[in-house]
Amino acid sequence: MEPVIVQRSEHGLSRENISPEALKVLYGLKDAGYVAYIAGGGVRDLLLGRQPKDFDIVTDATPNEVRRVFRNSRLIGRRFRLAHVFFGRDKIIEVATFRSNLSPDAADASESSDMSDTSDMSDSPDRPPSPESLHHVRRDDGLIVRDNLFGTPQEDALRRDFTINALFYNIRDFSLIDYAGGLEDLRKRVIRFIGDPGVRCVEDPVRMVRAVRFAAMLGFEFEPATAAAILEHHEKLALANRSRLYEEVQKLFFCKAARRAYELLREFGLYGMLFPDVNTWLGPSPETTECQRISDALRQIDEWRQAGREVSPALLFAMMFGGMHESQAGELANQGQHRGLALHSVTMEHFGGLTERVQVPKTVRFRTAEILASQPRLTADGGRRAKPLSSRDFFPEAVAYLEFMVRLNGEHREALEQALAIRWEPRDERHGAGGDDRRRPRRRRPGRFSSPSKAPAQG
Ligand code: ATP
Ligand code: MG
Repeated sequence: MEPVIVQRSEHGLSRENISPEALKVLYGLKDAGYVAYIAGGGVRDLLLGRQPKDFDIVTDATPNEVRRVFRNSRLIGRRFRLAHVFFGRDKIIEVATFRSNLSPDAADASESSDMSDTSDMSDSPDRPPSPESLHHVRRDDGLIVRDNLFGTPQEDALRRDFTINALFYNIRDFSLIDYAGGLEDLRKRVIRFIGDPGVRCVEDPVRMVRAVRFAAMLGFEFEPATAAAILEHHEKLALANRSRLYEEVQKLFFCKAARRAYELLREFGLYGMLFPDVNTWLGPSPETTECQRISDALRQIDEWRQAGREVSPALLFAMMFGGMHESQAGELANQGQHRGLALHSVTMEHFGGLTERVQVPKTVRFRTAEILASQPRLTADGGRRAKPLSSRDFFPEAVAYLEFMVRLNGEHREALEQALAIRWEPRDERHGAGGDDRRRPRRRRPGRFSSPSKAPAQG
């Protein structure tokens, strides 16, 4: 299949918006005689006028060859399939070799951030065969054939999830290369699976969550067959790798359009596959106070993110699950249990079951429980008992949670004033999920959310 090629004079993508480090890697590869493209989200976002999160580069150089071009690089992944080129202390450009669509995606996905997972990228102790030996396989008859790991640019484009994620930007002549119809779908603003949507959902169910992320984040619609496949296969999400789901859930709820993402997850039955207990608590209707509570929490997360505030996973879960945990703990408290302890135990119990679906790390589970369990203490006596909590590392998140609750219910304003005063005492500066910002937070007007929802963030 011939790709659509759009010459530089006919597209609006400017090199000015590409990071200097990415350009260095692209030119380095090109000057060494290799093909070098920007792929994936970088091209998509540049064309939409959004600031890309990062620039992933694909090339026909093998990882070892990339290693030889850049002294400041190293090979990563369980089978050393990728190269990281380093700039300074923490700037990394990831370079992948064109991959074949025959390689099993889900397995790949746990090895490469390009395939959405970063948790498993450390070098493995059991040394793998070198990438070159993977590139070519010697058959019994001695014939050397290309194996199914590395592939052609076309194969690399077509193994990707959605048409809008399969565009290449070619540094040789600054053209765009489109094998999958992504340019037209960008114009139409649709999310469309590459290939047979049903097959793509079943091959790697995590893609269904990714579809929701891109739709929410970009404000795009689903192409009908893509929507139908997700609806049909949503239950397969139960089969997905739990740690990949944890990674993807974070990307989803921190994409600045978490509330929209939540609505789409609910519409497609995916929310119940990720968080079955919460989904049951919510009930089927989107109109209940329970649903409103989650909506409000996610709108708050979106506002924080849009304001440039970091939100930790523990704070996200506290916000999203807090309504359910509070009502469960309330029942226990009515039976005489200590409210803080009850909040801690219902949170831990909920996570115990949840990790069968989404692999939330233990540290995050504990921290979520502490954020919630500290609320009664934080609000007691108008906040006068909060001080001892301020040395705990979850304190900024606990205060952020209280900030949300005051906004939601209008109660405990005095306690919040106290907590914020302690939180922003000069010696108390610390990073964390309440905010990485050194600024004082803007005072928020109390009261329920009444402003109309904002459109999904544009970068
Ligand atoms: P973001 O801007 O959020 O990083 P992205 O499109 O770059 O979005 P990544 O998760 O970084 O998303 O993945 C990079 C690219 O790898 C995608 O654009 C897509 O082409 C491909 N990809 C990622 N995950 C999958 C998957 N599960 N199946 C097929 N292709 C995938
Ligand atoms: Mg990316």
